Amino acid sequence: MGDNSAQVVIVGAGHAGGSVAAFLRQYGWQGPVTLLGAEPTPPYQRPPLSKAWLKGEGEFADLLLRPAGFYQANRIDLRLSCRVTAIDRSARTVNLASGEHVAYEHLILATGCHARALRIPGRELAGTFELRTLADADRLRTVLRPGALIAIIGAGYIGLEVAASARALGAEVVVIERESRVLPRVASVPLGEFFQRRHTEAGVRIILNAAVEAFEGPVGHGNEPENVSWFFVDPDDYRLEIEARYPTQQQAAAVVARGKEGRNAHMGLYGGDDVKKGNGR
Ligand SMILES: Cc1cc2nc3c(=O)[nH]c(=O)nc-3n(C[C@H](O)[C@H](O)[C@H](O)COP(=O)(O)OP(=O)(O)OC[C@H]3O[C@@H](n4cnc5c(N)ncnc54)[C@H](O)[C@@H]3O)c2cc1C
Repeated sequence: MGDNSAQVVIVGAGHAGGSVAAFLRQYGWQGPVTLLGAEPTPPYQRPPLSKAWLKGEGEFADLLLRPAGFYQANRIDLRLSCRVTAIDRSARTVNLASGEHVAYEHLILATGCHARALRIPGRELAGTFELRTLADADRLRTVLRPGALIAIIGAGYIGLEVAASARALGAEVVVIERESRVLPRVASVPLGEFFQRRHTEAGVRIILNAAVEAFEGPVGHGNEPENVSWFFVDPDDYRLEIEARYPTQQQAAAVVARGKEGRNAHMGLYGGDDVKKGNGR
């Protein structure tokens, strides 16, 4: 990038995109810098989303990578809720979902990643949450309260962090992991055992070797569960159900998990006073 007065366009206003825009200015880039982000929020830090922010701690300003006024003050044209749909390399433009085109001399792609979608039946049901963005965290926050019963699929770092945050807020938590140990891809066996012990001591129920196959329940978002309960139905079949109670008391959602390799597991039964108890349907 020899000529430092050319137009730079950065696609993705996350940690990487926000940082590169700031560093361009810090190291003397004089030309126009445009930062295009699909989310409605200026560049922010995701790590607190599963920790302090989820627990209701900290201010919005603490999440931001740089103060809100930073971009204007540094002549960075930050454009939010602005999704790039195509790059035209011969014309040196990017196309926006709005139909607009933005010209560039230098293009930086900082589009990060998405949460890996769980492509199983019922994933569109009310009461199911994904955690990647601030909007996801805010939505999840509304159901984490004392007595709520929460199932978390995936015992990676983020799953376990959410488990700890939910426990800190008084929720009952079960973590379902398809592998034979927690943090299977990212931690050594002794470290995984340490974390499993700590979470279990904190009251998190961990189910291993169980791959979730489906969510069952009423269709549609927008009707958040009042409480989420779960119970282990049939250890022989390794079948787990998670039931959500809604304000109307008429709707329910369930998660069905089946064990890998026919292994059995014996789990306790948890629930609030009016949660279905017993050993099956
Ligand atoms: C809940 C949670 C907790 C985490 N905790 C930790 C932690 O404790 N420690 C740690 O090291 N890491 C943690 N991470 C990971 C860390 O947040 C990521 O590594 C980091 O966000 C990566 O930054 P990025 O800018 O590369 O990508 P992203 O944060 O994914 O940002 C990319 C941005 O590009 C935007 N974008 C994508 N496509 C387009 C498009 N076509 N047009 C316009 N914009 C687009 C996206 O909307 C997004 O805002 C955590 C992540 C999450 C979700």
